[in-house]
Amino acid sequence: MAKVRRDYEVYLVYVESERCDSCGECVKMCPVDVFEMPHKAIPVRPVNCMGCQTCVALCKSKAIVITEI
Ligand code: SF4
Ligand code: SF4
Repeated sequence: MAKVRRDYEVYLVYVESERCDSCGECVKMCPVDVFEMPHKAIPVRPVNCMGCQTCVALCKSKAIVITEI
């Protein structure tokens, strides 16, 4: 399917909760506060995501997947 042209990017933020060890790094380091961590990291504000991949790079558990949609 052809990609829709938009003036903004939209990203899907997925955390595989079985992999998350609750280290809190993504909560601390995401520049736009996508994550909160009541127990495991949850992307509560995915609409903020700008696709920088910082969280993916720092998650030692490889629990986060960012996909441009
Ligand atoms: S950086 Fe990875 S392991 Fe750490 S809280 Fe975030 S998702 Fe979980
Ligand atoms: S890709 Fe960047 S903006 Fe998006 S959730 Fe991860 S750290 Fe935050």
